[in-house]
Amino acid sequence: MSTNRQHASAYLQRLLAARSPEELIQQLQPHTENPAPKVPGGSHLTDEAIDRRWELLPHAAASREALLDPQTLAHKDAFKRNIENFIGTVKVPIGLAGPLRVNGVFARGDYYIPLATTEAALVASYSRGCQLLSEAGGCTAILLNEGVSRAPGYAFRTLAECGQFVLWATAQVEEFRRQAESTTRHGKLSDVRITIEGNHVYLNFEFTTGDAAGQNMVTLATEAICAYIEQHSPVQPQYHFVEANLSGDKKASAQSFLLVRGKKVSAEAILPAELVQKRLHTTPEHMVNYWRMAAMGGVLSGTMGVQGHYANGLAAFYLACGQDVACVAESAVGVTRFEVTPSGALYASVTLPSVLVGSVGGGTGLPSQKAALAILGLGGPGKAQALAEVVAGLCLGGELSIIGAICSGDFSRAHRLLARGKAAHHAAQEARPHG
Ligand code: NAP
Repeated sequence: MSTNRQHASAYLQRLLAARSPEELIQQLQPHTENPAPKVPGGSHLTDEAIDRRWELLPHAAASREALLDPQTLAHKDAFKRNIENFIGTVKVPIGLAGPLRVNGVFARGDYYIPLATTEAALVASYSRGCQLLSEAGGCTAILLNEGVSRAPGYAFRTLAECGQFVLWATAQVEEFRRQAESTTRHGKLSDVRITIEGNHVYLNFEFTTGDAAGQNMVTLATEAICAYIEQHSPVQPQYHFVEANLSGDKKASAQSFLLVRGKKVSAEAILPAELVQKRLHTTPEHMVNYWRMAAMGGVLSGTMGVQGHYANGLAAFYLACGQDVACVAESAVGVTRFEVTPSGALYASVTLPSVLVGSVGGGTGLPSQKAALAILGLGGPGKAQALAEVVAGLCLGGELSIIGAICSGDFSRAHRLLARGKAAHHAAQEARPHG
């Protein structure tokens, strides 16, 4: 978080050019006079509540028209479990990437994948990678592990009390399971891990969550365990919290890289050298040269794992398909690996240990998100595992395409054509996109 000394000094001088230090300090003080009105109506979705919110924004009539269009207004009740202080919907363009042939344990077939983004060249890039994989016969994709955790924290007075608590808690797992599973039909307690730090104890409860991503499900289940602990523990903590930030929820962490949060998936493909040349305009050897250097670049810059741009595909996929976009934070970690095979082909794989996707729950039931999942045929019960395998294939396609673009020198060309609108009508034919 440090800043170069000259930059810091130049920045402060620019700030102080238009005002005195005293004026700046005054500007940064708390100002409690004339508080602005609160946003009215809470979670109410009545026309009246929506009108009252827009009345706060008299300068924004055009925004109201754009955000509260007739279709949004007609379907407003569909959003009632997903938003508070509702004022409308934002329209994000959605494009199709694919076809992506997935030879998975759960996902089998050719998928056209809806991606929502405002970043030009992203869909073209993923689409190119998916087509490349399909031309090679598809990617193999395997779901390897599942688990979503909540990690309550307990503060005791001494290490000795922690020991007493842990001794009791480790003998209670069956009761913890009963309590947790009384709150949900699909959530199952699969593991309990214990971390002691000084006089604090963290209990990490890991669940399988059926076809739901499961963050709410595990919160409710863990709350039930916490209530049981409160009533029955032989040693009372000074205080406890239902989540003490050890679950890795919505952040990249060593834990979400080394263990699992959501679904661990891996995808691989072997691409003949001719195909790499034809579609990516480079060679397997040069792709591996890049991969090796980029892997070292990742190490030198301290990334969690080694990968190019999982976040691009994941964010666009999560947004389109009703997943929690904030979970891209922990989902976009993993390892991409490229090698040249003895026969001169390109071996490419991705492994993502914490893909947090669900085919039910969360935002998956909203009108347009449900429609996007329906394009894939992966909405509703029984589809979450296939969804995770498709996501792995998508990320593999994205890695191949961006690395191909960098190797062939097409990286900036795609952006120039697609994002800056240069020769836009030629772009579809000419662009060799990246991501
Ligand atoms: P949810 O919509 O809260 O729960 C899933 C619901 O679907 C449950 O009621 C579950 O019933 C039901 N269900 C029906 N068929 C199912 C099936 N085949 N498999 C699994 N469940 C099935 O969704 P969630 O996945 O638990 O939570 C995701 C949401 O949590 C996201 O929107 C995310 O933004 C949000 N979130 C919450 C927290 C938090 O701590 N509260 C933190 C981060 C994110 P049963 O439970 O009876 O099985």
